[in-house]
Amino acid sequence: MTKNHPFITVSPRMRVVVMGLGRFGGGVGVSRWLCQQGCRVVVTDMESAESLADSVAQLAGTGCEFALGGHDTAILQQADLLVVNPAVDKDKSEFVQAARRHGVPITTEINLFVQRCCAKIVGITGSVGKSTTTAMICQALTACLADTPSRRCWMGGNIGHSLLTELPNIAAEDIVVLELSSFMLEDTPLVHWSPHVAVVTNVVPNHLDRHGTLADYAAIKKNILRFQTAMDTAILNGEDTTVSSWREQSPGRTMVYHVCGSEKLNLLVPGDHNQSNAQAALAVVEALGFFTQRPAAIAALERFSGLPHRLQLVHTDTVRHGQPVCWYNDSKATTPAATLTALQAFPERSFICIVGGYDKHLDLGELGTVLARRAAGVLGIGATGQKIIDLAVQTGLLPQNRLVYTQTLAAAVQHARHWLKFPDLLCADVKNVVLSPGCASYDQFSNYEKRGEIFTTLAKQRDLSDAEKT
Ligand code: ADP
Repeated sequence: MTKNHPFITVSPRMRVVVMGLGRFGGGVGVSRWLCQQGCRVVVTDMESAESLADSVAQLAGTGCEFALGGHDTAILQQADLLVVNPAVDKDKSEFVQAARRHGVPITTEINLFVQRCCAKIVGITGSVGKSTTTAMICQALTACLADTPSRRCWMGGNIGHSLLTELPNIAAEDIVVLELSSFMLEDTPLVHWSPHVAVVTNVVPNHLDRHGTLADYAAIKKNILRFQTAMDTAILNGEDTTVSSWREQSPGRTMVYHVCGSEKLNLLVPGDHNQSNAQAALAVVEALGFFTQRPAAIAALERFSGLPHRLQLVHTDTVRHGQPVCWYNDSKATTPAATLTALQAFPERSFICIVGGYDKHLDLGELGTVLARRAAGVLGIGATGQKIIDLAVQTGLLPQNRLVYTQTLAAAVQHARHWLKFPDLLCADVKNVVLSPGCASYDQFSNYEKRGEIFTTLAKQRDLSDAEKT
């Protein structure tokens, strides 16, 4: 079977419309690359030039034209190709429908890349854990390639910048590791493509507003295997019921990974979910034939300190009697489910948890219960903080003086330091302070990254009263 078919040609003087510039680099990367190919590029986005100022500035001098603040179908009249951002819901977009009516071919940044990439590609998808697993795989493979400096491991897709402009630098013997979101996998069947090594971490309900049912969503995720060949490998999480049921579905080899029964790695990043991500990475190392490099890959995984804002160890301090306290930034936990995962990563009563934020009207009941059952102390912040504290109080599992609403993040950190200084207040051996809000950040911060950065700064600030005491 031809892996890359049908091929979308890009040639000088072609008129290409890029729909969706965005702020995450994909729109900028594809626009810049198309300009480098000599295309005449028009970039359109619903948002204004003002709100996209950073992305627009990055395209200065490339020759791109802009049609911002809405999608005017008139620009499709002369178009030879439409490149659609994965964030666009194509079935609901009048602009995409108009392109279809005019017979304008449609593609995506990732499809343009995979059709031109000469290196082996490892693709990672799943509902959660994609970015972490992608970064772990890249770190492990980089260690495997350490003895062959002519070979490189590249990381891209949903996690980073577009690799299109790197194409001239990517050699056939290199390895490319791509995080693939369900939105990206919606369109990869257009070019009959699946990666040489496909990794699937898990499938739980997500983005159903766009994909419809869980079955529809799972079918899109399964596109990662659909065009594999007998030479390819599917790496599936054996502990996820949906994913492990796909074991007969790849035409190539299937490998199934488990945490249960596998050698536990001494990871810096906590939790069984990260052990699982690391097992996925080791399966990739094996699938690509790096058998003798396995110890080097394990060492690299054990050095992995986590991606920013995902249960990331941001600071270790010694507060009292030389007992180290680890501060974890899990600001990306913007749903109760993500925080519930984080809460399982620490031994019971070994941590103080800071929770709460913007109210998405999600059910917080289970979160309140698990916090009361597992945390040594809970600090509520933001719009939902009081509600979570009240739910935890109602369980009766933790005394009320260990469940405190502090409103702001700064006050929560201050209160955590007070508890650390006087551990008898918590009647527990506290070793960790975790920001895992379970809620979005918009009530108090511009985004989850800002919230995590502020927490990190606060965690690193040595408390003055603490310094005076020692
Ligand atoms: P994604 O890229 O799929 O959004 P991330 O790697 O950014 O996932 O992780 C987001 C959060 O999901 C982490 O902070 C962690 O709480 C949780 N997580 C990570 N890996 C897994 C996993 N394998 N299973 C369940 N939850 C996970």
